[in-house]
Amino acid sequence: MPNMRMTKNPMPSQDPNVRNKNFKEVTLGYTEEMALDEAQRCLNCKNMPCVSGCPVNIHIPEFIKKVAEHDFEGAYQVIAQSSSLPAVCGRVCPQETQCEGKCVRGIKGEPVGIGRLERFVADWHNAHATVATITAPKNGHKVAIIGSGPAGLTCAGDLAKLGYDVTIYEALHLAGGVLVYGIPEFRLPKSIVQKEVDNLKALGVKVETNMVIGRILTIEELKDEYG
Ligand SMILES: Cc1cc2nc3c(=O)[nH]c(=O)nc-3n(C[C@H](O)[C@H](O)[C@H](O)COP(=O)(O)OP(=O)(O)OC[C@H]3O[C@@H](n4cnc5c(N)ncnc54)[C@H](O)[C@@H]3O)c2cc1C
Ligand code: SF4
Repeated sequence: MPNMRMTKNPMPSQDPNVRNKNFKEVTLGYTEEMALDEAQRCLNCKNMPCVSGCPVNIHIPEFIKKVAEHDFEGAYQVIAQSSSLPAVCGRVCPQETQCEGKCVRGIKGEPVGIGRLERFVADWHNAHATVATITAPKNGHKVAIIGSGPAGLTCAGDLAKLGYDVTIYEALHLAGGVLVYGIPEFRLPKSIVQKEVDNLKALGVKVETNMVIGRILTIEELKDEYG
């Protein structure tokens, strides 16, 4: 039987009198107990409206079911089929207008805390997992991606999982784009972005920083190497 509580489990966060004296992340993430409890609010709807609200169509009821079954790594592997940045998206995606905005539990109460569960699963994986994400065998094709913002990182992850040999060229000294130089530490810690970049590197993605394409290498030079 699903848990028919009308409200989401609240997200623990720093006490205001503590957080006004530091720049650390304000929200602290679900505990296992909170995640298990929240996952039980999902009705596992057959028509999956939440999935149509997700820009990358994560199999949301499937990953939430795995959470409810206490299979956190299984939940991560479901998310990883569609998203390469779950720890980032679980924190900064506007879920209220995307997946959660379409959740049927939101009609008479609060939607399932899909973003909070995604964040929990990604953080759990980053803290515990030893299992590599499944990728296709190498297909012999090389791809250059210019820019390591969320668009470039996502593209790199998707192509690496399909077996492409991917190199990202980033103008700045760190990968992440606006995720590292725009969104503040108290909302999205730099260490979380770095961990997602490391996960991509573990898939075989190479990241070349300090490479301003158009200056250090021209597009024509890239075409020669990758054409
Ligand atoms: C202050 C701020 C807060 C935001 N907060 C949120 C939020 O909470 N939630 C949300 O969903 N969205 C948020 N956004 C929007 C989100 O950050 C952007 O939609 C997203 O970063 C766009 O991703 P991108 O990969 O296209 O570009 P970018 O993140 O801009 O990345 C582009 C990358 O390409 C590199 N590059 C550019 N030219 C070259 C070149 N010639 N050679 C090599 N590299 C190059 C850049 O250095 C950069 O790293 C925020 C944006 C800002 C500015
Ligand atoms: S719409 Fe809400 S309740 Fe239905 S499957 Fe998606 S998350 Fe679960």
